[in-house]
Amino acid sequence: MTPAARVARNGTLILGGGFAGANLARLLGRRGATIVSPESSMLYTPLLPEIAAGAIEPRHAFVPLRMMCPDTEHVRGRAVTLDEAGKTVLVETADGPLLLQYERLVVALGSTAHMPAIPGLNEHAIPFKNLSDATRLRNHVLQCLDAADLNPAHAEQHLTFVFAGAGYAGVEALAELMQLTHDVARYYPGLRNVRQRWVLVDTGMRILKQVPGPLGDYATTQLRKRGVEIRLSTGVESVEEHAVTLSDGTRIETETFVWTAGVVPHPLVAQLGLPRDERGRIVVDSSLRVDSRTDVWALGDCARVPNGATPEHPDPPTCQHALRQARRLANVLRGSTTPYRYRSIGEGATLGRDRGIARMFGMCLRGLPAALIVRAYHLKQVPVRSRRLRILTDGLLSRIFRRDMAELGMIEGVPAWSQTSSQAVQASPVGSSSGSEHTIATDVLRRG
Ligand SMILES: Cc1cc2nc3c(=O)[nH]c(=O)nc-3n(C[C@H](O)[C@H](O)[C@H](O)COP(=O)(O)OP(=O)(O)OC[C@H]3O[C@@H](n4cnc5c(N)ncnc54)[C@H](O)[C@@H]3O)c2cc1C
Repeated sequence: MTPAARVARNGTLILGGGFAGANLARLLGRRGATIVSPESSMLYTPLLPEIAAGAIEPRHAFVPLRMMCPDTEHVRGRAVTLDEAGKTVLVETADGPLLLQYERLVVALGSTAHMPAIPGLNEHAIPFKNLSDATRLRNHVLQCLDAADLNPAHAEQHLTFVFAGAGYAGVEALAELMQLTHDVARYYPGLRNVRQRWVLVDTGMRILKQVPGPLGDYATTQLRKRGVEIRLSTGVESVEEHAVTLSDGTRIETETFVWTAGVVPHPLVAQLGLPRDERGRIVVDSSLRVDSRTDVWALGDCARVPNGATPEHPDPPTCQHALRQARRLANVLRGSTTPYRYRSIGEGATLGRDRGIARMFGMCLRGLPAALIVRAYHLKQVPVRSRRLRILTDGLLSRIFRRDMAELGMIEGVPAWSQTSSQAVQASPVGSSSGSEHTIATDVLRRG
C-alpha cells in the first residue's frame, strides 16, 4: 500500500509527544510544527505514584496536546522508520501508513523500563513507567487485599510487596501505595492482625542517591519507622510467579514484585541510524543537534545531552531537564547559538503521610514543608491552568475524604498500531490475581 504523504508544518517534525516533545511544540508557538505521537495527551509522570494511590484522578495528569500546543499539527500515530536521505519519516496511523516530509527533525521518543536479563523478570515484574503500569499496580494491590481477606492461610504472602529500585519512582510508589493500603485497611476487619510486609531492594549503598545524604537518611528513617524493610547493596537474582530471590539468597514469597530500576532509550531509537552512546542514547552537541547531522536534533530521555553547567556528566533523565532542553532547542530552532547550560534548582520526593524531602536553592527541607514544596512545584510545572486546578482539587478532596479504593476499569482492545513492546510485557501474567490479558483501552491510557 502506497503511504499517503504530507509535509510537516513549517518543516519541523517532532517525534514523541511526551515531556520533551510537547513542551518543545508549545514553546515553538505560532512558528508551528508537526508532532507525531501515539497518544493525544502528554502525561505528567511525577504524579504517577499519587495516581496509583488514588489521590489524583488519572485523567487530570494528562494534558491534551491540542490544548497545550494549539498551533502544532498533531499526527496521531507511531513513527516506524526514518529515511534521512529522503528526509521522511514513515508513520503508522489508524488510517494507514503516512509519509511525513521534514526540513528539521526532532527526536523526543523518551525511554522504556530497563529490563535486564534476570530470570523471570519480564514475565512476573510490574514495571512503573506509564499510566497503564500505575493502573495495573493499583488494581493488583487492591486485588491482593481481597485475596488475603478470602484466603487467611496465604494472607501474608498476598500482603507482601517487594519493590526493586530505590530511586524517586520506586520510593514514591512504595510510600504512596503503602498509604493506600493503610487508608483502606478499615474496610478489611479480617486483616487487622495480618502483617503487611513492604520490602525495598536496591543494589546501591543508600536510597534516593540523587538527593544529598542527610535527606536520603531522613527518607530511610521515615520508611523504616513505618516498617519498610530496606535492603541495600542487594540485587534481584530471579523472579517467579509467587516469589522473588535476592542476591543474598533470601527468598521472599510474594504476589507483587515492582521493578523501577532504571530506564533505557525507546527501542525505535536503535533503528534510526543516528549515532548513539554506550547506553543507546542519541549523541547530541550543546545545541542539541545530533552529532554529524545538520538537520536532526534530539532531547529528553532518549538523548545524551551535554550540559555546560555540569561538564562532568550529561543530563539525567528527568522532566526538569527535558523542559530546559526543550526551551534551549526552541531558541536554537529560532537561530540562537547559545550552548545549553542548566543548573538544577533542586530535587525532592514525597514519602506519603504528608512527609517529603526537598532541596531547593541549596536549602534542605524535610517533613510536611518538603512535601508541600514538592507538590507545589509539580503543580506549577503542569502546563495548562485548568489541569493544575483539577489536580489541586483532587489533592484537597483526597484530604477531606479517604483515599478512593475503586479499581480502575480495564477492557480489551488496543489497536496494533498503538501497542508497544512494553505493553507486550505488560500483557504477560503478574502474580496470580492480575487481569493479565487485559489492556487499557481509553485513548489517554495508550502509553509508549
Ligand atoms: C514513575 C515516574 C516518575 C517520575 N518522576 C519524575 C519526577 O518527579 N521529576 C522529574 O523530573 N522526572 C520524573 N520522571 C522522569 C520523566 O518522566 C522523564 O524524564 C520525562 O518524561 C522525559 O521526557 P521525554 O519526552 O524524553 O520522554 P516521555 O515523556 O516518555 O515521552 C516520549 C514520548 O514518545 C512517544 N512515543 C513512543 N514511541 C513513539 C513512536 N514510535 N512514534 C512517536 N512517538 C512515540 C511516547 O508515547 C511519549 O509520548 C519520572 C518518570 C517516571 C516513569
